[in-house]
Amino acid sequence: MSGGEDLLRSRGLRVTRPRLAVLDILASGGHLEVDEITRRVRERLDSVSTQAVYDILGAFSRAGLSRRIEPAGSPARYEARVGDNHHHVVCRGCGEIADVDCATGSAPCLDPSSSHGFEVDEAEVTFWGLCPGCQARRRADH
Ligand SMILES: [Zn+2]
Ligand SMILES: [Zn+2]
Ligand SMILES: [Zn+2]
Repeated sequence: MSGGEDLLRSRGLRVTRPRLAVLDILASGGHLEVDEITRRVRERLDSVSTQAVYDILGAFSRAGLSRRIEPAGSPARYEARVGDNHHHVVCRGCGEIADVDCATGSAPCLDPSSSHGFEVDEAEVTFWGLCPGCQARRRADH
């Protein structure tokens, strides 16, 4: 895991085993809730508290190593895919989240019809719909 150690050091973060574990778990992809991250850290290390995982994720976000997303009505998720302006599609049925590449590539992706004098740097875009699994379940129910 020397790659992880280098990455932490390059962002000015002290290298600890819990931090390396969280980094590795995030790097495996997806959009993970704190509970899921904590469960997976505990599979590797004993006695890591949920609060400790929150603290690590906070430090990672400030250091630009992870991104926090919080779709309306669902718990915060964390992902390692940072630095690009990608968006998310969220399933209304089960809450599954997938990445959607930005159509324009840079923020803000949309020009507001009126910015009211604001200097706009981001448009938060979330697509909502039904994932393939939920579509199949819905078809089966009818
Ligand atoms: Zn679904
Ligand atoms: Zn994402
Ligand atoms: Zn976009």
